[in-house]
Amino acid sequence: MVDGYRHKGLRKKLVAELAGKGITDARVLDAIGQVPRHLFIDDTAFLELAYADAAFPIGCGQTISQPWTVAFQTQLLDVAPGMRLLEIGTGSGYQTAVLAAMGVRVFSIERHRPLYLRTKDRMRQLGSKAFLQHGDGYLGMPREAPFDRILVTCGAPRIPDALKEQVKVGGVVVVPVGPGDVQHMMRVVRTSAEVFESTEHGSFRFVPMLEQREG
Ligand code: SAH
Repeated sequence: MVDGYRHKGLRKKLVAELAGKGITDARVLDAIGQVPRHLFIDDTAFLELAYADAAFPIGCGQTISQPWTVAFQTQLLDVAPGMRLLEIGTGSGYQTAVLAAMGVRVFSIERHRPLYLRTKDRMRQLGSKAFLQHGDGYLGMPREAPFDRILVTCGAPRIPDALKEQVKVGGVVVVPVGPGDVQHMMRVVRTSAEVFESTEHGSFRFVPMLEQREG
């Protein structure tokens, strides 16, 4: 698990690229600059490309999100240290690590058991304090609710009711919503127990949020 000068140099370039593409939050750029993305990609054939602004396969038909998408979702979340955040779709754990680098207490759910197990092992080796769970993101994590922030990193046909229930009043849900291949990035603020105010932030392509856990 080496993080050398070359990796750090590549990260610096990636941060500059993301800033050029419109990521303005310095805290987000700092976190991207800190997290060794190459350690979240298993296939060494992809090592060279770990710092390209691109998505990659991570097994089980899933992908690690493109750095720009990670940065954009993180910026929309507007987190602060100490916040409790629920992530749906742990995948490689890269987004989890970026949020943790910002001082966030991350609780993350992954439905694919092999992916969950692999990422849990990786996060342990990296010394991560994030809490990972194998389960169905449609149900959220009622035992740990409520959350200041909820992030969905797969394309949801709708905003799951459980997630609306589990975000605090004043809290924010960032979720790509759409029935097909293309989703609209929604930022939903819970302004009172019953009222949710949404804004839309462009189109994205995520792997689908599937119902019920696997394995
Ligand atoms: N945040 C991840 C992105 C992974 S892609 C990263 O940085 O690597 C989205 C992930 O969502 C996939 O791993 C997929 O298995 C998972 N997923 C899909 N439907 C889910 C559900 N209902 N509950 C939890 N995870 C789900």
